[in-house]
Amino acid sequence: MSAVRPIDPLLPSPDVDLAERLFGELRARTGDSGGITRASYGDGEQLAHDMVKREAQALGLAIRVDAGLNLALTLPGRTRAPAVVIGSHLDSVPCGGNYDGAAGVLMGLAVAAGFRKAGLVPSRDLTVLVTRAEESTWFNASYIGSRGVLGLIAAEELDTVTRSDTGRSLGDHIAALGGDPAALARGEAMMSPANVACFIEPHIEQGPQLIADDRPVGVVTGIRGSFRHRAAACLGAYGHSGTTPHALRRDAVVGASALVMALQDLWDRLEAAGEDLTVTLGQFATDPREHAFSKVPGRVDFALDVRSQSTQTLETVKAEAYAIATRIERQHRVRFDWGPLSGSRPAVMDAGVVDGLVAAAEAQGVAAPRMPCGAGHDAAVFANAGIPSGMLFIRNANGSHNPHEHMAMADFAAAANVLSRFCLEICSETP
Ligand SMILES: [Zn+2]
Repeated sequence: MSAVRPIDPLLPSPDVDLAERLFGELRARTGDSGGITRASYGDGEQLAHDMVKREAQALGLAIRVDAGLNLALTLPGRTRAPAVVIGSHLDSVPCGGNYDGAAGVLMGLAVAAGFRKAGLVPSRDLTVLVTRAEESTWFNASYIGSRGVLGLIAAEELDTVTRSDTGRSLGDHIAALGGDPAALARGEAMMSPANVACFIEPHIEQGPQLIADDRPVGVVTGIRGSFRHRAAACLGAYGHSGTTPHALRRDAVVGASALVMALQDLWDRLEAAGEDLTVTLGQFATDPREHAFSKVPGRVDFALDVRSQSTQTLETVKAEAYAIATRIERQHRVRFDWGPLSGSRPAVMDAGVVDGLVAAAEAQGVAAPRMPCGAGHDAAVFANAGIPSGMLFIRNANGSHNPHEHMAMADFAAAANVLSRFCLEICSETP
């Protein structure tokens, strides 16, 4: 590994101490023995937004809140040229970790604070965007906050999408906190491709790759899209386990198992052909009220989650999965009820942004590998809206969506310095 080079004297130093203090405050105020909980449009998320807003005020950043209560904190530039936006979310899954989302927001704040303290006035606005409701465990809809920022919320979602714990609608939750669901329904947008030069989302890596590679920072090339059946079922017929002959059985567990094995074979085949893909089946359950060990299972519920960086691959797997299921239905006399279909489009990160982040890392003496991203992020919405986007991954142990996620502040500092250099590069040019 190359030695870390001395910091360029002109390079603003991101305020890592500020970020560390805020991580501590977040942990103290939104955590308990079970982990961190910051519900989307709930108390924890609101507290986190208020906290970040307070710090932005102290730094003298310009503050805007949009109809969906997303927060934009801006170090004003010399010109009104399209802004450099650094953003992420502050909500968490129930009993999650402290860094998922918050790391990106606090890194943006640390970078803006560094510019401020160095007395640097950027050539264009440098904005930290704090989105809402990124974790779809609370509302069964993806990227609510970032879609709201870009005016992409469908009016009916505000009434039909409800929060899993309260049962109240998205619009109701937004209004209760002082937002404006009617403006969201009209598609009012705080940002667009016309006023954003690029969107960068720093985020902890939620997989083990950087740990395995012994690298503090990675640069994302693309975000996998998905298709999902969250509430699928294989339906057969209950029967006496001792009296129902093999040929007359309609065994739902056998049908579902055949599907699992056939989809694993399909994954093997596509992966060998060089396709980017993950196939996950889970949440298998028979109903204990109807089922017993001495009964042929008549129904098994399950979930299917398929992800890829390629839309074409997702379409191929979907078509093949349905064809495989039809074959299994005939063979095992069962029926598949797939339930609702949901998912998201893959998002390709901008080649110029990716190269710029890699070059900024190199200039810092950090070898940042290029890598795909398996989880959904707000950056996907910006990329698919035509805004050049990128993601910077920070090494993180123990995965994510659990209280044991662990990011070393030294790795956060390394990533923050890379991001600060990247921003300085863009914000030094005359637009
Ligand atoms: Zn996240």
